[in-house]
Amino acid sequence: MGSKLRTSEAKAANLSDGTTNHQPLRFRAHDMKKPHITEMPVTWSNWWKHLDWLSIYFIIVVPVLGLLAATQTSLRLYTGVFAVVYYVMTGSGITAGYHRLWAHSCYKATLPLKIYLAAAGAGAAQGSIRWWSRGHRAHHRYTDTPKDPYSVEKGFWYSHLGWMVWKQDPKRIGRSDISDLNEDPVVVWQHKHYIKSVLIMALVVPTLVCGLGWGDWAGGFVYAGILRTAFIQQATFCVNSLAHWLGEQPFDDRNSPRDHVITALVTLGEGYHNFHHEFPSDYRNAIEWWQYDPTKWMIWTWKKVGLAYDLKQFRANEIEKGRLQQLQKKVDQKRAKLDWGIPISQLPVFSWEEFVVQARSNGQALVAIGGVIHDVAPFIKEHPGGKTLILSAVGKDATAIFNGGVYQHSNAAHNLLSTMRVGVVHGGGEVETWKKTRAEKGADNA
Ligand SMILES: [Zn+2]
Ligand SMILES: [Zn+2]
Repeated sequence: MGSKLRTSEAKAANLSDGTTNHQPLRFRAHDMKKPHITEMPVTWSNWWKHLDWLSIYFIIVVPVLGLLAATQTSLRLYTGVFAVVYYVMTGSGITAGYHRLWAHSCYKATLPLKIYLAAAGAGAAQGSIRWWSRGHRAHHRYTDTPKDPYSVEKGFWYSHLGWMVWKQDPKRIGRSDISDLNEDPVVVWQHKHYIKSVLIMALVVPTLVCGLGWGDWAGGFVYAGILRTAFIQQATFCVNSLAHWLGEQPFDDRNSPRDHVITALVTLGEGYHNFHHEFPSDYRNAIEWWQYDPTKWMIWTWKKVGLAYDLKQFRANEIEKGRLQQLQKKVDQKRAKLDWGIPISQLPVFSWEEFVVQARSNGQALVAIGGVIHDVAPFIKEHPGGKTLILSAVGKDATAIFNGGVYQHSNAAHNLLSTMRVGVVHGGGEVETWKKTRAEKGADNA
């Protein structure tokens, strides 16, 4: 509930339309009327104020210290195995919890599952659910625009971690509605107790497990704690950078999101990002059974054991429509690169008599087919059916001859013929002229 948040926080965060402004990781209500640090030019005396030190500490300083500590700490087998297991648990706290449950409401979770995901997600040290989902909803709403908090348009490294290291103007970032999250007691509790939660879940728990379990206190702290967290952070950041940079766009190419198996492998299945941006409330990111989406498999399993319900899925019909339209777009782009002849609507119009008179003048060899005049002169010698047949059609309506009267020309021949268009016959061709003449004769006879 909004009232459960600190009053000043709630006031600054919630606007009348239910959307909220951007809030930095460490929440300190910012007076929106005062100029923000990001509006000041960077100088020698203020550059450090432009940096978000809490983010730098969590995503750069601690991991670097962890790497240094690792050189002094041997990695034991049990600790290594536990680090991987804890990696998947805390990573899925982000993918299945923060992302698919809270940011996109792709399914509903029972309270025990919510508490588990909120705790696991805290262990990935990526900010509170509330803060994370707010930014992520703005990212979906304003993808690739200046209001996208991690727009790949500002560069790969900006979308990867620059956006967290370099302070952003809260007024610039697009707003998004998180009223549902403000009503979720698990989300509100985790937001209020975030720093405690992250320290316990990211560092204390893995240290205790490895220490009490097999006496490896230092290994638990360094490998299962610090380095595992650093790996998850980098993996999740890849969804903002790599997934907008590498791969295919089978559903829509107007924005940057892309599908790639490498991104999926790194992010527990979040790599089918083109699909995800098109169908964000679908609990799946990968829709084919052979694609790697363990987060989807987890949610599905939770449903089977009664922990999750109301899994949202877009109809296959809607998904196929998107895929087909994108395919059509690609086909149209390829088609536009080829020479299909001058469009008929742009050709000059001649009467039948003009066509007959000009048929052999100025080195031309005009043939009328289907009401369109073609200059076949440069092609006469190359005509696969021989010179004589094509010459016999000059100055005539060869519609019937071309379409089976003498020979049923191939599709390739039709295509080639269209590149020889030079005009259209008024009224369609000889048949029309003949009908007109006969009608006049009939009138004369009457
Ligand atoms: Zn995205
Ligand atoms: Zn998303």
